[in-house]
Amino acid sequence: MTYEYDLFVIGAGSGGVRAARIAAGYGARVAVAEDSRVGGTCVIRGCVPKKLFVYAGRFGDALHDAAGFGWSVPPASFSWEIFKTKRDAEIARLEGLYNNTLNNNKVEVIRERASISGPHEVILASGRTVSAGKILIATGGTPARLPVEGAQHAIVSDDIFDMPHQPASIVVVGGGFIALEFASLLAQLGSVVHLIHRGEKLLSGFDEDLRDCALEALKGRGVNVFLQENIAKIERDGSQKRVTLQSGSVISTDCVFMATGRTPNVQSLGLEAVGVALGKAGEILVNAQSQTNIPSIFAVGDVTNRVNLTPVAIREGHAFADTQFGNLPRSVDHSLVAKAVFTTPEIGTVGLSEQEAIAQGVDVKLFTTRFRPMVNTLSGRADRVFMKLVTDAKTTRVLGCHICGPEAGELIQLVAIAIQMKATKADFDATIAVHPTMAEELVTLR
Ligand code: FAD
Repeated sequence: MTYEYDLFVIGAGSGGVRAARIAAGYGARVAVAEDSRVGGTCVIRGCVPKKLFVYAGRFGDALHDAAGFGWSVPPASFSWEIFKTKRDAEIARLEGLYNNTLNNNKVEVIRERASISGPHEVILASGRTVSAGKILIATGGTPARLPVEGAQHAIVSDDIFDMPHQPASIVVVGGGFIALEFASLLAQLGSVVHLIHRGEKLLSGFDEDLRDCALEALKGRGVNVFLQENIAKIERDGSQKRVTLQSGSVISTDCVFMATGRTPNVQSLGLEAVGVALGKAGEILVNAQSQTNIPSIFAVGDVTNRVNLTPVAIREGHAFADTQFGNLPRSVDHSLVAKAVFTTPEIGTVGLSEQEAIAQGVDVKLFTTRFRPMVNTLSGRADRVFMKLVTDAKTTRVLGCHICGPEAGELIQLVAIAIQMKATKADFDATIAVHPTMAEELVTLR
């Protein structure tokens, strides 16, 4: 049986682009269908535009802190409109690079929505059907809205990048990394921010100490945090929104932003008809090789709801292409993925939390420190740095590291290498410090 393509990829996001490019590099005939913009969530409406927003917010802090170092700073203001124009241009540039990468690797890009009509057949929105030896679903996820009255008046993360003007006030709903990052950066940019979270603490799943740090970080930037609170309804009130909380409080705001999770993009993909098995959250179930229960159909990235981060989707796409087209069987180890939350200060985490280590029966030995970073002495800023190593008392292996402080995302990437290499506390101690830095604390913890 000959097919038009060796591989047909649905979705040109992080996982799909990587898989398509690597497979084509092995000589496979590859097409990728994309119904929005090439680059996917990360490049167009996720990590990249968000991080540019984070940088924008932090200049406000820098201008403020400069005075403590002797600078006289004239009154400064932020233009959402100028920033948006520049950010959009940068995203368009990156989208162009992604397109070039696919073209240079001879991947055919089909600008259409695609769904699956058979184990080796894809149907495009135009009605054209194509055949492929293998099909890779890399369709990502979509922001979910809470099912409350008036939910249609709220925006989701996709929309925030299109807002033409800065909201003077905003209610952010959620306690995960997207909610916290936007609450933090919008407060830095000068919006009045309320954060509503149903749980007792923010950042579910993180080390408990980091969860406390996250709350401090938001409060330190003036965010009004409501814990164990829910939205009851949202009503339009002229140009404002009236948010009624379950406790009965009412907040009048410019904008309500629901950052309440994401659902895998499986709707109208034709999966039921072909018999692709889904999990409880609607995710595509796959084995370690990202293969579904239909042998010719594979899935990578957020649509499989394993670890929903860009580098993971990329790694899964790469491993799929190596295995299926490069004769290099690989699977991805999801057990040790470092993560950052780009609040200010930042959070970086890798490996086991204290609570996870205890639950696994480890005889845990902890090393923690909390201090004021040198830069904050003259600036007068109150933010403190927190660092924690979770170690196994018997083997002295470092099992986890949790940091809240400036550039914690950068720091945790390097600690992740040491933990990946199974470093012990003695290895950390044998490493001579770089002085004066914050990171030196990691090798001098007693
Ligand atoms: P995506 O990148 O979402 O790509 C899927 C693509 O498929 C999309 O382009 C979509 O248009 C297309 N598509 C869907 N259905 C079809 C169809 N039927 N036909 C054709 N095309 C289709 N991760 C990090 O690692 N670091 C971060 O800082 C970070 N920040 C984030 C901030 C926000 C606001 C959000 C929303 C996410 C963030 N993420 C971050 C997560 C990251 O963006 C995702 O994990 C990553 O993009 C997943 O890649 P993917 O390939 O699975 O899907």
